[in-house]
Amino acid sequence: MKPVYFDHAATTPLHPEVLKAMLPYLEDHFGNASSPHSYGQEAARAVEQAREEIASLINADSREIIFTGSGTEADNFALKGIVEKLKSRGHRIITSSIEHHAVEVTCRYLEKKGFEVTYLPVDKDGLVPPEELKKALTEQTILVSIMHANNEVGTIEPIKELAKVAHEKGVLFHTDAVQTVGSIPVDVKELGVDLLSLSAHKFYGPKGVGALYLRKGVAIEPFIHGGGQERGLRSGTTNVPGIVGLGKAAKLAKEELKERMEHNIALRERMIKGLEECLSDYILTGHRRQRLPGNVSLCVHYIEGESMLLLLNTEGFACSSGSACTSGSLEPSHVLLAMGIGPQLAQGSLRITLGRENREEDVDRFLEVLPRVVERLRRMSPFKAQK
Ligand code: PLP
Repeated sequence: MKPVYFDHAATTPLHPEVLKAMLPYLEDHFGNASSPHSYGQEAARAVEQAREEIASLINADSREIIFTGSGTEADNFALKGIVEKLKSRGHRIITSSIEHHAVEVTCRYLEKKGFEVTYLPVDKDGLVPPEELKKALTEQTILVSIMHANNEVGTIEPIKELAKVAHEKGVLFHTDAVQTVGSIPVDVKELGVDLLSLSAHKFYGPKGVGALYLRKGVAIEPFIHGGGQERGLRSGTTNVPGIVGLGKAAKLAKEELKERMEHNIALRERMIKGLEECLSDYILTGHRRQRLPGNVSLCVHYIEGESMLLLLNTEGFACSSGSACTSGSLEPSHVLLAMGIGPQLAQGSLRITLGRENREEDVDRFLEVLPRVVERLRRMSPFKAQK
């Protein structure tokens, strides 16, 4: 039997309706969206419809959407494109210490290119305090990039307040909303952001397609040079089936958002309550309420997360110990360390991310399995011996 999938923050299964919408564009409607003939025009129309759908989901104008090859690409585009454009005005960037590698590693690269990056601290719940941003802004700051919600612990950041602080100093604000678009309401006008990244595969769309929201009037340097697609900002033959899938996933997310959130919150709370009753020596991580609907994350004392994941997989549950990229590395998560969790406890991290196909029975069975797995690992734990 296939394990129960509890790793929706890493990726989600394709929604059957999304697959259905994509298939004609992998078969009959294979045209190049830049071609003037009817094959091309048909593809171009589908791409523009998808642009409308994604814009409608985040309350943007369709002309403010640029399709990219992933959320990572949208983050790279936002950061590199803006600092390249504004480098004559200043050389400072502000971000947080809990960003996804897509932003963090891009910032490290920009440091090598001569930019100065400030990594804002977070509190014990993973929140970036707006006062810290206020203190860090200088005349030289050209961009602030802070994620909308953290992919490991699920904390939702106070983006509206943070963007306001940046704007008071006339500084552009980007948010990596890869974990929030399609999971909670995201309204670019309400948040007041200038740029926002999103990715289709986090909300039941296909992998390898994302988008950057670029507020009208914000100038950016082109990211990929070539045939001039995406208004000359991101060249490359248009990924029509992928974009159609993104559009359909956005439409479904808009229609089903409330229901999906209620479903995930109910399962999350069942899981958290169940953990209190069946597990000892652990802490929940992330903000208790201001968090993603489907995220349950914890650190279990005296064990090592990777062994826990392997045993859980053999017992029928696919979970994660953090982000998909940090899983597999034995380094403790930079997110947990930034939240003040010690390296040893951080090694025992476990992330369960719920989704639309999960059921109460899955949660209940998990609550029976987890304590057994933890007990077994603790019996052979070198950490426990040091207690
Ligand atoms: N940003 C965040 C917060 C993420 O969680 C992820 C994926 O895990 C990404 C960016 C990268 O998105 P993609 O997988 O589309 O490159």
